[in-house]
Amino acid sequence: MITFKLAKDLTKYLQKQKQNGNSIGFVPTMGALHEGHLSLLKKSNEMSKVTVCSIFVNPTQFNNPEDLKKYPRSVSEDLLLLEENRCDVLFLPDEKEIYADEKSKQKHFDLGYLETILEGKFRPGHFPGVCLVMEKLLKIVNPEFLFLGQKDFQQCLVIQKLVSLLHKATKIIICPILREPGGLAMSSRNLRLSSSNRKLASQLHQTLVSIENRMDGHNFPQLKEQAINDLENMGFQVEYLELARKTDLQILPDFKVKEDLIILVAAFLAGIRLIDNLLINP
Ligand code: AMP
Repeated sequence: MITFKLAKDLTKYLQKQKQNGNSIGFVPTMGALHEGHLSLLKKSNEMSKVTVCSIFVNPTQFNNPEDLKKYPRSVSEDLLLLEENRCDVLFLPDEKEIYADEKSKQKHFDLGYLETILEGKFRPGHFPGVCLVMEKLLKIVNPEFLFLGQKDFQQCLVIQKLVSLLHKATKIIICPILREPGGLAMSSRNLRLSSSNRKLASQLHQTLVSIENRMDGHNFPQLKEQAINDLENMGFQVEYLELARKTDLQILPDFKVKEDLIILVAAFLAGIRLIDNLLINP
């Protein structure tokens, strides 16, 4: 694996690879890598000749400074995992390399509706920050394929919109959610959960599955109310639990049979914010 800290060196290297006919797959991350990240890497290795992974804890996407301070960091373990999982190129920039000055943080992308719901509503500034860093990373790497996790489903749609606003040809591949044995969606933030809360956290997924199982014969508002009550009684603070159309995240009042649907949830457990979702096919 070759590690680049400077954007211009990486761009030059990748341009040469492209001239030689090699396709580039890109897996952007914030590090503290787990099996979920590695599944993206595996998919990239299957589909592209050269796999690039970036590790950058992007300060502009944290709407809560405390969350940024506490975000898990484990670069030396990450390097080993990347080596073991056939990552070809690591981009490991420092903050100055991405944000040279305050002006570089001021670009705004019009995300429209996507910015007003769910994560956009509860984490103001989060998606603008994601777009800031992704625009820069896409310019530096200019990949043929971009591998993103369904775990952050709304982020996938936001980045899809960004790619179209930038008129880029990059193809986005959304990869399934990897889960721990109890069903908890893998996340770097899980490292901050105590072992008992980690067990409890799997109830978030179980709750979504039980809504899906009871879809026939119940309406969504009923199931939603019951689910929120159950989660709150277990010690979660639920921020949202919504049903939406998969294609554009239009929030739906109730189940519709002929559309691909998704149920999305965000909740705090012991001060740690967890998100999850479940796709429901008609
Ligand atoms: P992060 O480091 O949290 O910014 O995540 C980097 C990428 O890994 C994003 O595209 C995430 O959606 C994806 N990812 C995070 N957790 C999982 C998971 N449990 N399964 C699959 N992909 C994931």
